[in-house]
Amino acid sequence: MELAQVLDSLRVIQLPMRTKFRGITNREVALFQGPNGWGEFSPFLEYGDNEAAKWLKSGVEAASGAEFPSYRDSIKVNGTIPATDSVAEINSLVDSYPGVSVFKVKVGSGIEADIKRLKAVKGASPSAKIRIDVNGSWSVSEAERNIRAIVDQIGALEYVEQPVSDFESLQGLKRKLNGEVLIAGDEVIRKSQDPMKLDLLSAIDILMLKVAPLGGIERSLEIANHHKLPVVVSSALESAVGISHGLRLAAALPNLDYASGLATGALFEFDLATHEIRSGEIRVKEIEPNRDALVRFAAPKERLEWWRQRIKNCWEVLA
Ligand SMILES: [Mg+2]
Repeated sequence: MELAQVLDSLRVIQLPMRTKFRGITNREVALFQGPNGWGEFSPFLEYGDNEAAKWLKSGVEAASGAEFPSYRDSIKVNGTIPATDSVAEINSLVDSYPGVSVFKVKVGSGIEADIKRLKAVKGASPSAKIRIDVNGSWSVSEAERNIRAIVDQIGALEYVEQPVSDFESLQGLKRKLNGEVLIAGDEVIRKSQDPMKLDLLSAIDILMLKVAPLGGIERSLEIANHHKLPVVVSSALESAVGISHGLRLAAALPNLDYASGLATGALFEFDLATHEIRSGEIRVKEIEPNRDALVRFAAPKERLEWWRQRIKNCWEVLA
């Protein structure tokens, strides 16, 4: 694809969120069209060009029509629960994931609030498996103490995602937990200059794959193949367009034992299309964004200009 094609078809959309997630209530995404349909470019606004360039590569890959294997046509998903303290909100969120039996709960906002939130999720879905995401906010000793307190109070965890931030801390924590609770690595991979150089086996048990932050399906498959760890596919809060590409990644992995975090469309008040959750699964399919929604949620002109410049900068990084 040429840069001009991306810029000429560019749409910037602001999707209202049902609930605050990652501190935002409005998700701004850029979309463009290529020979294979739509691609999404939606790095969070604070990301620099080097990091954002990988997201552009992924969007271009989606719009250009590269072919990948497909091992399954329906993907088991987890429900994602943001760091809310409202039991009513948790109940309504759990209801918005029909048939889902795995919940990923954001924690790290104080252990008492965390445990209350986890108990509320358990209350809403008693037989569900629980995984937690700390986004690296604990120290090694806090992580060890908090993880044990949580297991004590709510039972076994499927895994803990990015409990501590840096590679060495993950190694230290993995030694301490000694396989009792599994550790998944997210930021450690997607923020790394070179994820191939890390000796991940010494630091984590499970590898998180997010198609846009890693630079597309081809690159994600390379990373998975290199590290030979079990993987979990997850979203980066993309619109339904970007989620389609994540679903294709989940379909393209020969081994996929964990539910994927690709049901985050439920966190939007409105999305550009619907990936319906049925019996806890989403079908792998291309979607056409709803034409009315493209108009209704279009960002103001100055935002379009901002994204055009960002795309030009990222294109240069990739060149
Ligand atoms: Mg994460």
